[in-house]
Amino acid sequence: MKSDRCDFLVIGSGISGLYFALKAAEYGKVIIITKDNSLSGSTRFAQGGVAVSIGEGDSPEKHMKDTLNAGAGLCDEKSVEILVNDGIERIHDLLNMGILFTKDELGNLDLGMEGGHSDKRIIHFLDQTGKNIQNFLLEKIAKNNNIKLMENQMAVDLITEHHMNRNNREKIENCYGIYALDTKTNEICTILANFTLIATGGAGRVYPFSTNPSECTGDGVAMAYRAGCNIRNLEFIQFHPTVLYFDSDPAFLLSEAIRGEGAKLINKQGEYFMKNYHPMEELAPRDIVARSIDSELKKHGDKFVYLDCRSIGQQKMADRFPYIYETLKSKYHLDAAQDLIPVVPAAHYLCGGVLTDYNGLTNIKYLYAAGETASTGVHGANRLASNSLLESLVFSYRAVQDIVHRYDAKRNDRDAFGKIPPWNNKETVHVQEWGIINHLRREIQDIMWDYIGIVRSKPRLDRALKIMDIIQEDVNDYYQRARLTREILELRNIILCARLIIRSCLERDESRGLHFLLEAPEHREDSRMDTIILPESIE
Ligand SMILES: Cc1cc2nc3c(=O)[nH]c(=O)nc-3n(C[C@H](O)[C@H](O)[C@H](O)COP(=O)(O)OP(=O)(O)OC[C@H]3O[C@@H](n4cnc5c(N)ncnc54)[C@H](O)[C@@H]3O)c2cc1C
Repeated sequence: MKSDRCDFLVIGSGISGLYFALKAAEYGKVIIITKDNSLSGSTRFAQGGVAVSIGEGDSPEKHMKDTLNAGAGLCDEKSVEILVNDGIERIHDLLNMGILFTKDELGNLDLGMEGGHSDKRIIHFLDQTGKNIQNFLLEKIAKNNNIKLMENQMAVDLITEHHMNRNNREKIENCYGIYALDTKTNEICTILANFTLIATGGAGRVYPFSTNPSECTGDGVAMAYRAGCNIRNLEFIQFHPTVLYFDSDPAFLLSEAIRGEGAKLINKQGEYFMKNYHPMEELAPRDIVARSIDSELKKHGDKFVYLDCRSIGQQKMADRFPYIYETLKSKYHLDAAQDLIPVVPAAHYLCGGVLTDYNGLTNIKYLYAAGETASTGVHGANRLASNSLLESLVFSYRAVQDIVHRYDAKRNDRDAFGKIPPWNNKETVHVQEWGIINHLRREIQDIMWDYIGIVRSKPRLDRALKIMDIIQEDVNDYYQRARLTREILELRNIILCARLIIRSCLERDESRGLHFLLEAPEHREDSRMDTIILPESIE
């Protein structure tokens, strides 16, 4: 069995993993593994941009206030303060490294407006901000001799004391790396590391309709939970209000910034309905816009509403949103300057995740998490638009700083590393029932959509958990018998994430932010607390 060894192991090649890797490489040898190719994850799909308060008249305090408002009383104020202040430094760092963002006629960074923001503060690269950042970081990484990037390597499980002494769960204190599956050969290798960063992105694919690419199956949350990490606030799943109503995979997103430029929502009956729901109308926080659309759909029995971009005009649409405008035209035969665009909400962003401190450290020593998979406390019950790329930069940088200030990056725990056994797959066989594995995945996704969508209710949550428990038994059976493949591992992670999400929903007996419970439609002050799922709360 193959094995490898490094100072810093990074799981995931989105913005969090890549930025961490570049910074960590100043102190030691880095390995990045990524389940797919290097340009995988949600980062490349981010259109709108990065929120940062650098405009005239704007300030970190205003950015903080908007973030706290969106978070509906659950943000960790210190985390938000770190985000809005350190965020400015991180953007200057990227600019100093040579990245390009779109500029206005005066040569200043062009600042866009998005829902929930009280000022123009979204820096962007046209409407392909994420791809621009990811490609930029990948180019830097390709030139760095201290970083090895391994594609088609899927982390299976984190290595802890559990793997040295399988019968003793109490002694889990440290992380020593991972077991990883080569998704081309289905071989498993061991990668030992002084420090491990989980940067595996979100879990949109727990749902059937999602803006997230297919690799976003909540692997980080599932792995961390199995290893003994605390998981926070998983009930807060953000549904993006406006994705194209069309059979595309992943769902094609129509950036919030289009509404920032004046696009309006209109139902099939021809009514501009957002004025009936919120004073900020189309620029209300995302959860309100998504729920308003959901309510319109249910009221009229329609399958979609329309986004009306006609007031923006052809020139501005094409200049400001070239990718969206051209894709709509060439792929879907829709001219946004003339046609109404059919839209629906879809699963978009995981606000909770692996609980970390202000430096990305989890409750397991030497194990960090950053980006969408982490819960740093900045999003609370709802993420403010364009805060996630910023959060990824800020907290992955802080993780590196924490490691190098606290430890010797090159420490060598020979004793422990020597006790780690290779992966045992001797008893397993090739399972032929691929149809059943796909069926189970779809079944889980459909239940999540029908029972744990935008509007929830206690009886539906109870019922969903019962069905998921039964499916979990089937999945366990496959996992134990089968020689591992990406499909089986993703199924194992999706079912665990789904159950953790339902458990988190059941813990919250109020409506807050993205969690809307029919039986309790209001906030309750005595429920204003995080939902934390401790290790082994569910099997
Ligand atoms: C359509 C869309 C538009 C968005 N627009 C914006 C925006 O305008 N502004 C903003 O701030 N945010 C936006 N977001 C959110 C933002 O893009 C993400 O939150 C952010 O990019 C997450 O970065 P990440 O590094 O945490 O994860 P990702 O970019 O998702 O990367 C995860 C990486 O982990 C890898 N991986 C996953 N599981 C494993 C495993 N088991 N083993 C090995 N590798 C694994 C994946 O292959 C991938 O490389 C948008 C998201 C989407 C989907």
